[in-house]
Order: sequence, then structure tokens, then C-alpha cells
Amino acid sequence: MKFNGIDFDTYFKNYPNKEGYFGKYGGSYVSPELQKAMDEITEAYFTICKSRKFIDELRRIRREFQGRPTPISHLERLSNKYGNVQLYAKREDLNHTGAHKLNHCMGEVLLAKYMGKKKVIAETGAGQHGVAMATAAAYFGLECDIHMGSVDIKKQAPNVARMKILGANIVEVTHGLATLKEAVDSAFEAYANDYQNSMYCIGSVVGPHPFPMMVRDFQHVVGEESRDQFIKMTGELPDAIVACVGGGSNSAGFFSGFLNDPVDIYGIEPLGRGTALGDHAASLQYGTEGIMHGFNSIMLKDENGDPAPVYSVASGLDYPSSGPEHAFLHELGRVKYDVINDDDTIDAFYELSRLEGIIPAIESAHAVAYGIKLAKEMDHGSVIICLSGRGDKDMDYVIENYGIR
Ligand SMILES: *Cc1c(COP(=O)(O)O)cnc(C)c1O
Repeated sequence: MKFNGIDFDTYFKNYPNKEGYFGKYGGSYVSPELQKAMDEITEAYFTICKSRKFIDELRRIRREFQGRPTPISHLERLSNKYGNVQLYAKREDLNHTGAHKLNHCMGEVLLAKYMGKKKVIAETGAGQHGVAMATAAAYFGLECDIHMGSVDIKKQAPNVARMKILGANIVEVTHGLATLKEAVDSAFEAYANDYQNSMYCIGSVVGPHPFPMMVRDFQHVVGEESRDQFIKMTGELPDAIVACVGGGSNSAGFFSGFLNDPVDIYGIEPLGRGTALGDHAASLQYGTEGIMHGFNSIMLKDENGDPAPVYSVASGLDYPSSGPEHAFLHELGRVKYDVINDDDTIDAFYELSRLEGIIPAIESAHAVAYGIKLAKEMDHGSVIICLSGRGDKDMDYVIENYGIR
């Protein structure tokens, strides 16, 4: 299928290009020392990850350890409430550890093992990426250092406990604001000093090349399964698909199964409390081109051109940029990016819980809210919502801050 001059039949051969660009977005903006490490990972990715042995091992792990394929559920009661559109959910909440993140963590850590690394290094904010990494490292028997700001360590006690039980080493970062940004800097520094023995594992389709490509490819399983399952269930393609976009990994993997199909694709960013800078994290909607964390994309900047403070009720979505492929698909118009605010998200959180018996992650509830909006606007058709994770982690927060609705 051709769209705005881009041939989607050959899209994955051409995007990203050899230097890691999706159009003008992406690339690798790191020190010469770190670039050596990135080149090593890129080369290993193209040799090891394309080998039969690696592919077969990852397939087996997905089946026997992660519990894949995850099902697609027809959301019948939710659909009936809003009219004639049929809503479906891809159930990444049923993936082991309760979210999609393990899909790319298992791929990244398996690659680290094949590369002969002894240790994996990552940063975490809310702790979701840290828990998925600690899980993967335990499975493969690698050491695991998780860099985390001391403020986040206090806020995210249950995830810190999970990581410790799984055997990960928490590296407390105390300087600056002692949150995610400082944790990223600290993890990068530790990696630059020890890249011969370790591998850095990024938590989304962000960072320098090859990470946006590699993480998308490891998440492709979500889109591939969804397309096959939906055609088996209904005999046709869906009319539309929806996913939430933070860094953009669950959406990138889900969308990648449908880019070459006549399917409307929606990526949903968090509008938080409103449109003022600092009140949301809708980077594609309100941001401008810039370089941060080693890649060129669309980002929210403060008056000095640095990454702006961002906010969302969903801690997994409050990142001031999105992966370069999203910036590209946005510019191209192949994916429509839109926003959902906190309040509509909490309504959708309760709707899905009450009508379907599924408590979604607050991140995923953004996509559910948009699915409901589409169901009200379209007069017929079908929509698959990517339910990126389960909401157990969010229950106390929702009850404390919003009460029972
Ligand atoms: C981390 C997280 C997200 C956001 O990350 P993406 O890279 O945009 O997918 C979304 N949903 C859940 C459940 C998460 O844990």
C-alpha cells in the first residue's frame, strides 16, 4: 500500500535507514565512546537477532514463559453501551508481569546473553521498566543494575521490592531532582564505563539507533498476533486500531502489524490537566523538533530548549518526547495522533472495569477512552484497542485521588 509517497510494502526494509533515520528523525547523538558500543549492538542485532537459533529461542520463551499469544477479547458490553461499533482489546495485560514491556526486555536481555555480556543496565522512573528488566535478567541469569532516583525509590516502594526479590541491584541516584532524568544520566555513565561487560537496555522506542528499531521489532509480535487473531475471529481487518503513546513502544509494535493495511491508526498522548506547558505530556501534539537522550524527534522544550517538565496521571506516559518513528508517521499522516485528558482516562478506567471485568493500567485507559470516543463518532465498524497493561499498580492511587466513581 502506498501512502503519501511511501511504499508500505517495503517499509521495514527502508525504515530506519542504515544510520537509524526515519525521514529526518532518529539517528544517534552520543559521545564517540558510546557510539562504539552502539555500533557493537547494531552489528550484533543484525547478525544474532536474524539467526534461526535466536528467533526460535525467543519464540519458545514467548510461548512457554510469557504466556503468548495473548488473546483478543471482544468488549461486548462496552460496545453495546455506545452503539453499533464493535470494540476489541488486545490483552497485553495478560502478558507475564502484566504489561507489554516484557516483550522487548526478553529480546534485549537474550541478545545481551548471546553477546556474552555478564550484566544488563537500565534506568527506571515509575519502576515498570525496572521490574520487566529484573524479570528478564533473573530468567537468563545475568546481573542487573537498575538506576533509580531516590525520590522515585520512595514513591514506588512495591516495584522496588519486586526488583529486589527478583535479584536486581538498585543503584540509588541522589543528585539533582533525583528522578528519571538523573537516573538516565547515571545509567548511561555506568554503561559507558563498562560496555565491554554489560549491555544497556532502553525501555521504549527511544534513545540512539539501534534502540528505536530494535524495540519496535521486539514489540512487533503484538501487531502480528493481533492481525492474525482478528482475521481468524471476524474474517476481516479492523476498521481502526488505537494505542497509547508514551515513549511509544506498545503502539509502535501494535501499529507495525497494520501499517500496510487499509486501517485507520490512532496514537493517543496524555493531555493531563490541560494544554499549558507542564500540565501534559503530549509531545507530538505540542512539541517541536529537537535532540534529547541521543536521538532527534519531536519534543517538549522549556525556555532554554531543554526537555520541559511534563505531567500525566499515568506515570508511564510522562516523557517529554516520543520515538523517532512516531514523529515520522505523524509527519507522514499515516498515524493520526490525538490526546485524552486525565479525567476522561479515569472514566474509561472505571468503564472497562465495570462493564468488562478488566482493570486497565491508567496508561492503557487513555486508549480505552479514545476507543469509546470512536465508538460514539463512527456509525459502524470495528476497533481494536491495545490494552498495554493491567491496572493493579494503579488501584490505590485512583481510589485515593478520584474515589469510587
Ligand atoms: C510503560 C508503559 C506504557 C508506556 O510506554 P510505551 O513505550 O509508550 O508503550 C504504556 N502502558 C503501560 C502499561 C506501561 O507500563
